[in-house]
Amino acid sequence: MKNLTLALVAHDAKKDDMSHFVAMHEATLRPLTLFATGTTGGRIMERCPSLTVTRLKSGPLGGDQQIGAMIAEGKIDALFFFVDPLSPHPHDVDVKALMRLALVYNIPMALNVATAERLIASFED
Ligand code: PGA
Repeated sequence: MKNLTLALVAHDAKKDDMSHFVAMHEATLRPLTLFATGTTGGRIMERCPSLTVTRLKSGPLGGDQQIGAMIAEGKIDALFFFVDPLSPHPHDVDVKALMRLALVYNIPMALNVATAERLIASFED
């Protein structure tokens, strides 16, 4: 399989879910190129020190927009974005912009664990 590039983002209430998800699929993810927003990436690397994750800025400080720009440049193959639907987010406009660019560029986008499990299974063939 070609070396896919994935973007990983999780809101605060979903960071445990993200680090658990990544740990469960560590072997699948290891050969892939991984980018994450700052805090999400830090949590993933704490949990899975063997993974190489390029950390961008924290989401509220521009990390979501950096990932959006990478999508627009054709550099991201899939987005795993674990969204917390129960809390307000100061960077809500950035969250919407990131989702919108994933839609515009038709990038596979998993917004919850259930979808993420199915999406990552497609990489495990
Ligand atoms: P973070 O950003 O990983 O830096 O917390 C994620 C977000 O809230 O968009």
